[in-house]
Amino acid sequence: MTGIPPTRELTPAGYDGSSPFPRPATPARAGTTPVTLTAATVIAPFLALGAGIWLAWGVDVSLTDLLLAVVFYVVTGLGVTVGFHRLLTHRSFTARPWLRAVLAVAGSMSFQGNLIDWVAVHRRHHAFTDRPGDPHSPYRYGTGLGGRLRGLAHAHLGWLFSSEPTSATTYAPDLLRNDPAMLRISRAYPAFCAASLLLPFAVGWAISGSLYGGLTAFIWAGLIRIALLQHVTWSVNSLCHMIGERPHKARRHDRSTDLWPLALLSFGESWHNGHHSEPSCARHGRGGRQIDPSAALISLFERLNWASDVHWQPPDVLGHHRTVAGKHTLRTSTPRQGGTERR
Ligand SMILES: [Zn+2]
Ligand SMILES: [Zn+2]
Repeated sequence: MTGIPPTRELTPAGYDGSSPFPRPATPARAGTTPVTLTAATVIAPFLALGAGIWLAWGVDVSLTDLLLAVVFYVVTGLGVTVGFHRLLTHRSFTARPWLRAVLAVAGSMSFQGNLIDWVAVHRRHHAFTDRPGDPHSPYRYGTGLGGRLRGLAHAHLGWLFSSEPTSATTYAPDLLRNDPAMLRISRAYPAFCAASLLLPFAVGWAISGSLYGGLTAFIWAGLIRIALLQHVTWSVNSLCHMIGERPHKARRHDRSTDLWPLALLSFGESWHNGHHSEPSCARHGRGGRQIDPSAALISLFERLNWASDVHWQPPDVLGHHRTVAGKHTLRTSTPRQGGTERR
């Protein structure tokens, strides 16, 4: 199987860690169709948040809707964090083929793009973290306050409409050329999006026995659940490179942070500085206090003999990279320079 592509790529000469990233001489324009599709998958769930609040105002929110929303959030969220991220992007463990497929399908129901593109974009993010070439760095427009605010919007959502596509051939050749199961699941992404909306509707209809029950389940466990997970995932790209603590050494210019308030909702992904310091480690949280549900699930898979070759670094190795923690905010954050080069 083709290895993960090399990520130690050169920072363009002259980048000083604080200036806006240089723009391409001839910027490409994004096509109308991709922009429209992206807008639909981003805006529709978000609008549903408003609809949901309106429905909940004066109307009983059904327990069924909420439970369904939690179940779909957990399944699709772990599909992204354990499947897309730790298994397929970083190969933090090896999963049995059926489990690999289940995780890939679950992640594909999260409305975050097809799995091969997701993996390619994320590997590129690790290759160029917070320097020119990073697809979603909040430092794209420089490190002044105005640039950071604009960069935060770009890192959270704006990059989805970017005209700088990431080459799957370059960043995910292992999946593209040598993994037919993942390629099939990636190509079937639109079908999984449809299933992600239709399943809550069908289950809500079946349980409540009414079309109205199906509709409210569609809104809460479909659209609203999708919107919440999207914004939590995107917050790891935006907030977790801007606000929080940086106790671990990472690569030059890397400003990833640990942000505890998002730990549970992101299934442990917001221990992002820990992740950037050891990207192939199956556990992002460090020590007993940094809750990491994704790592707990991988550990369960290992005990069930469904996962093997799990990259668990011993605690002393993890602790070796721990340094004095520092608070970083919009005003004060600076990267820890000169850290060990890690992928
Ligand atoms: Zn990151
Ligand atoms: Zn990663």
